[in-house]
Amino acid sequence: MERKELGLVFFPAFDWAISQTHPERQERLLYTRDQLLEEGVLDLPQIREYRPGMAEWADLERVHIGVPGLESLVKDAHRVAAGGAIEAGKAVCSGETARAFALVRPPGHHAMRVVHGTRGFCTVNMEAIMIEHLRRHHGIGRVAIVDTDVHHGDGTQDIYYHDPDTLFISFHQDGRTLYPGSGFVEEQGGPAAFGTTFNIPLPVGTGDAGLHRVLDELVLPVLADFKPDLIINSAGQDNHYSDPLANMSVTAQGYGRLAEKLRADVAVLEGGYSIEGALPYVNLGILLAMAGLDYSRVIEPDRERCPAQSADVTAYIEKLIQERRQTWRERENLKRREIARWGDEWQRRRSVYYDDSGIEEEQRETARLCHHCYGWQGIDTSSRGSFGRKSAYAAIIPRNACKRCLQEAQDAVWSAKQAGRHQYYYIQNRQTDCLERIGGKK
Ligand SMILES: [Zn+2]
Ligand SMILES: [Zn+2]
Repeated sequence: MERKELGLVFFPAFDWAISQTHPERQERLLYTRDQLLEEGVLDLPQIREYRPGMAEWADLERVHIGVPGLESLVKDAHRVAAGGAIEAGKAVCSGETARAFALVRPPGHHAMRVVHGTRGFCTVNMEAIMIEHLRRHHGIGRVAIVDTDVHHGDGTQDIYYHDPDTLFISFHQDGRTLYPGSGFVEEQGGPAAFGTTFNIPLPVGTGDAGLHRVLDELVLPVLADFKPDLIINSAGQDNHYSDPLANMSVTAQGYGRLAEKLRADVAVLEGGYSIEGALPYVNLGILLAMAGLDYSRVIEPDRERCPAQSADVTAYIEKLIQERRQTWRERENLKRREIARWGDEWQRRRSVYYDDSGIEEEQRETARLCHHCYGWQGIDTSSRGSFGRKSAYAAIIPRNACKRCLQEAQDAVWSAKQAGRHQYYYIQNRQTDCLERIGGKK
């Protein structure tokens, strides 16, 4: 088969919406589709369209632990969107296309490892499902995810917090001013993966100029140092100046240039809620840039309404870049210090709110520090919602687990089960690629 520049997967999920008046509804991609058809994009010789298949449950459970199970939380639309991302990844890994863009919804980057419900419009994480599928079936090793959505990709960060083979870079509107209220520079990964979570919280009013300085002086050099096999772009279009859910000033041209410089192997659509004024232009700009085509004429009809970036914002961003560069340069020392600080076990407690499901989760997470493997993690989780209470204990065994970690993780689940404090018990064994339910109800 002749190699094309860009594989395109399009799945607008006509039967899935947060509600009929919510911006996360099917019209979100209809204007984009009209724009692509009008421009004749699908007829371009550089582009090949792929149909999304449905992701298998095994693909989802390689990443997520649904409490009590994913079956009650996940709709067909989620499985097709995840299947679309996998299709895009496969097109690139097989060499059929140089790059691929999965224009799919629902989005996924707020979905964490443990799933009790839907938060930030996300139930399962499309990028992580794709990456883990490619690792399992196509021999991919090191991966970098660059999350360019205006909201912090807290779900993706959570899934890869202890994985030193996955670099997660997110730039986003500062969590003090926007959902989900995280993504600060202090969040740098668990000790075994310290430094491979890299957050760049940007001030309100950041425009093309600020975004491109961050890209040129921070994101691209960090990527060059990490040397990933694959670069994935969580492509959220809500940094656009017309987006109703955020406060940034990026244009379609700014996004097109971003795609051109980033040279992501696979982009997966995330947010973007200016469904008529921004999405058709931003998506088209990215698509043309990824296909190596001219995107200079992709301009919003109301672009004069885009506010200029202020001098204060520029100064703030310059300082932030200097600080973040310094941290990246010192990462090996900082990691050693972090490992020494925690000793054998790292732990944290936190609350996770599922804003779309009205569920509150309390979590206690531990990570075993091991010199022979990446260490196993334990998650003690309980949630409260209209169903009452649910609680579970899960152990996550890494791909390269040593014998001792494997044994400890299994023992931890069995002793939790014997103590009987929870309703559900799981072992997510990434070595055998299997999610075991221990004794609990399915
Ligand atoms: Zn977003
Ligand atoms: Zn170990």
